[in-house]
This record gives sequence, structure tokens and C-alpha cells, in this order.
Amino acid sequence: DNFEDAGLHPVMLENIKLSQYPRPTPIQAHTIPGVLLGNDIVGCAQTGSGKTAAYLIPILSRMMGKASKLCGRRPMPGEDFKIKAEPLVVVVCPSRELALQIFDECRRLCYRSMLRPCIVYGGAPKMGQRAELQRGCDILIGTTGRLCDFLDNEPHVLSLGRVKYTVVDEADEMLNAAWEEELDKILVGATTNADDDHIFMMFSATFNKQARLLASKYMAADYIRIR
Ligand code: AMP
Repeated sequence: DNFEDAGLHPVMLENIKLSQYPRPTPIQAHTIPGVLLGNDIVGCAQTGSGKTAAYLIPILSRMMGKASKLCGRRPMPGEDFKIKAEPLVVVVCPSRELALQIFDECRRLCYRSMLRPCIVYGGAPKMGQRAELQRGCDILIGTTGRLCDFLDNEPHVLSLGRVKYTVVDEADEMLNAAWEEELDKILVGATTNADDDHIFMMFSATFNKQARLLASKYMAADYIRIR
């Protein structure tokens, strides 16, 4: 039950220290090894349990080990060419507030790596979000509606065709809010080209029938369930 022996990338261990997380929370102690081994995960977890870091730490740590392969040539500040965003990670969540919290934590955990997170959410102009995507994106955090908007209307800006890690955070909230159709579109997009090593994770405070259905539709049959 410590981060040092979990087999994480040294840069990730440094970033965890900077975040001042002394030891893994229970959800982290179970999720981190599961993801490092390549398992799909369903986690029953409330806000405050450390669930965000539970999925970000192992995903980003795995990516840090392959960073040179992941990051192609990208525009530097001041250069004006634009690239299509083809993130390797997509995190879908129900609200702008949650998206911003996840983004914040992600930025801290990506410190001193080449990994570049981006965020998209509704209720704000698309222009700034588009410009960030066009500078390159490894990890995309977004709310259902705005993610679908980019996928439907701007396929030259964003593609989910290279996604290797899909996370659905607060799944019950999205299902309650009748975002099911949009969620489906995103998940189908992210898992269409998925090879065997695609990892799917889902976190939810409650596990009702709808949530179980979603899990059975997208996850490997041997997914790990964590309470
Ligand atoms: P979450 O459940 O993801 O909303 O996280 C709740 C809060 O706990 C956030 O402010 C995190 O920065 C913090 N946190 C996450 N993991 C740890 C940890 N291992 N030790 C202390 N705080 C943590």
C-alpha cells in the first residue's frame, strides 16, 4: 500500500510527490495494479475517494514509458500549422465542473512529461477549445455534449480512432441525465478501432441496471469490479 512499489514510471512517482499524496487511497490501491496489468475496470466510487487519480495515475504512467512513440511533431507556440487531435485517452464526464477538476489533476500528473491534455465542455465558445486541440492532444477530457459536437461537426479537428484508454466518470449521472445516446456515440467511436490492449474503465457511485448494461456492452467479459 505505497506508490513506490506499484511499478509506476519514475516521472509519475515524482509528480505524485509534488501532489503530496502520501499513500494510495483504497480505490487507488485496487485500480492502479489492475490497469497496469491491462484489465478493464468498473469502480463503485464517490467523489472524494481519489477516483480521478486512481485512473489517471496508471494510464499516464503507462504512457510515459512510451512517450517518444506517442508524441509526433506538434506546433510550438507561435507556429501556425494545425494538426488533427487524435488522443490516446478519452475521459467522458457529465459536467463542466467535474471536467475542469479532472483536467486540473491531469495537468499536475503530466508535469515534466511530453503528454498534453486538452479539455472540451459546453457553455463556452468552441474557438479556444478547437485551437488547443489543433496543437495536439494525448489525453482528452470532455463532457458528453461538446465531445459529440466536435465528433459530428468537426471530424477534421478531432478523431477518436487512436484511443487506447476510455474512461466514463460518474456514469450514473450521465445515464440519469439521458445522455445515453451521446455516450454511446462516443464509446462506439473510441472502441471501433480498438485492439486487444484497449482498456475501458467506468466509475459510478451507484450500480443500477442501466450502468450494468453499459458495462456489459463495452467491457471485456473479465473486467475487474472494485467497490
Ligand atoms: P476525487 O475523488 O478524484 O474527486 O479526489 C478527491 C481529492 O483527493 C482530490 O482533491 C485529490 O487531489 C485528492 N487525492 C487523490 N488521491 C489522493 C491521495 N492518494 N492522497 C491524498 N489526497 C488524494
